[in-house]
Order: sequence, then structure tokens, then C-alpha cells
Amino acid sequence: NAKRSSRNCVKIYDRGEPNQLDLDDSIAELLRTALAAKRVSLVYQPIYNITSRRIEAVEALMRLTGSDGKSVAPDVFIPIAERMGLILPLGLWAIRTACEELLTDGHVPKVSVNVSVVQLQSPGFGLAVAAILAEANVSPRRLVLEITEGLKIEGKTEAIKSIRELHSMGVEVWLDDFGTGFAGLSCIREITFDAVKIDRSFLHASSAPRGAQMLKNIVDLVRGTGCETIIEGVETPEQLLVAAKEGVDYAQGYHLNRPMPAEGIRALSPWGKEALKA
Ligand code: C2E
Ligand code: MG
Ligand code: MG
Ligand code: MG
Repeated sequence: NAKRSSRNCVKIYDRGEPNQLDLDDSIAELLRTALAAKRVSLVYQPIYNITSRRIEAVEALMRLTGSDGKSVAPDVFIPIAERMGLILPLGLWAIRTACEELLTDGHVPKVSVNVSVVQLQSPGFGLAVAAILAEANVSPRRLVLEITEGLKIEGKTEAIKSIRELHSMGVEVWLDDFGTGFAGLSCIREITFDAVKIDRSFLHASSAPRGAQMLKNIVDLVRGTGCETIIEGVETPEQLLVAAKEGVDYAQGYHLNRPMPAEGIRALSPWGKEALKA
């Protein structure tokens, strides 16, 4: 049930509550009109190069606003959108919007957008992404797609085909939440990722002796496959130091910046934050 708990959004329900189906229905209703009613938006969180302290990319995170004005967490509405088939239009909207909001000039080098396996499995996804990039006049090298490890990509030939197609276009592909599922090891063996995001649970456990060793081993394992490493969920200066000491390439987390609207990103210094001097 961990996936259901919201992170920085208002938590609206737990699985097992008697009215869960009603709530799923009301979120479904909200989603049906969300694009037209402009109830979806993107916030962005910087990802810093730990060595140069510069922003390497910003991750786009989707937000859905309910009729009461409260935010519904993506961990809640994304699975519903997937079941309804709405993730396809929403997902393409996210890529198009991220390109328009932040890639029409050189203010940030890259934008990463999360994609669901449902999108990757839909035939023509690669072509649709190519069309968006061409229309926005943005180089494919400035787009990153994040795929979560929990997706169990194995055996999903259409999804693997999409990843290869995107790669050959020059789009980067990152594996998200590494270490949270059982699929991670076979995933990094079968598919070439440009970078792997190590799940924040490993960083948060790193203050314990066994945790520190595990983080080190995971970083070494990922690096051994030739991928760059990104650490998620940096919440304290100490955690940033741990990541730096282990030689992690990139860092993201509340200690550096909270997710923010595009205007907030434009107002940041491209040379990074004081926090990285720690
Ligand atoms: P994710 O891709 O792993 O995104 C990172 C999540 O961690 C975000 O939650 C972010 O706000 C949160 N976070 C960032 N820094 C910290 C930190 O220092 N500490 C903690 N505790 N959390 C931090 P968010 O925005 O609620 O998104 C949750 C998940 O929903 C994402 O996890 C991603 O899997 C999914 N998601 C979000 N937007 C999209 C989208 O446009 N499409 C798809 N398919 N999935 C999305
Ligand atoms: Mg992500
Ligand atoms: Mg995730
Ligand atoms: Mg993640």
C-alpha cells in the first residue's frame, strides 16, 4: 500500500476504506475532463550534477487538482488513468507541455518525463514522441523518459521495441526507483539505460551501518553496467555528502529543491544552489 500514500500531496484515501470505489469513480470523473478543464499541470524538480553543481535536468511531475481545489497525488490518479486508457493522452500532453514550458530555449539542458508501461506498449508511441519534438523544434537529446522498475518490462516486446526506437532517435531513457521491485536486475541486464535512479529508501537507510554498505554496493552495481547514477530523495546535507562520497553522479531531493512550477525553475540560477557547496 506504500505506493498509495501521497508524498507531497494531500492524502485522500487508503486502500481498504469502504468508500474507496466511490473515490476511484470520482477521480475517474475528474480525469475524464481534466485536460479540457485544465485541472492537470506539471511541476518540475531539478536534478543536479554533484561534481559540477549544475542542473543536469529537471523532472516533470504531474499534478491533478480536484474540484475542491485539493491536489490528488499521482500515485493515486496515475493507476486509475492507466486503467481508463487516459494515460495515453495525458502522457503525450505531459511531454508536449514540458517541451513547451522549458525546452524552447536553453535555460535547462534536459527535461525528464515519467512514462508508464501502458504508454510504451501502445504502438506508435515512439512516432508520437518524435512528432511532438519536431513540432516544438526540440532536439531529442534534451528529452529523457523515466521508466519505473516496478513495470516488469520483461516479455513486453512492444515496450522494449519502443525503448529501442526512442533510444535510436536520441531520447535518453532512465530507470526509475531502482531497487524497489524484483525486476531491477533483469531490467538493467536486458535494456540499455542511460542512467539509473536509485530509490530513496537506500539513501534514507544509509545512516545505519548495513544500509551504508548496501547503498555502496548498489551504486557500484549500477556503475558496473555502464549507467550513470542518480540518487533520489536527498532531504538533508548529510545525505548529499553520503551520495557524493559514494561517487553518485546526480542528486535530486527536497534538500536541494521542492518540485515547482516552470516559472520557479526559470528563476533558479543554472549554476545550482548554495546547498551543493556543503
Ligand atoms: P517518481 O518518478 O519516483 O518521482 C519522485 C517522487 O518523489 C515525486 O513524488 C517527488 O515529489 C518526490 N520527492 C522528490 N524529492 C523528495 C524528497 O527529498 N523526499 C521525498 N520523500 N520525496 C521526494 P510525486 O510527484 O508525488 O510523484 C509520485 C510518482 O508518481 C512518481 O514517482 C512517478 O512514478 C509518478 N508520476 C508523477 N508524474 C507522472 C507522469 O507525468 N506520468 C507518469 N506515468 N507517472 C508520473
Ligand atoms: Mg521519476
Ligand atoms: Mg516512481
Ligand atoms: Mg523515483
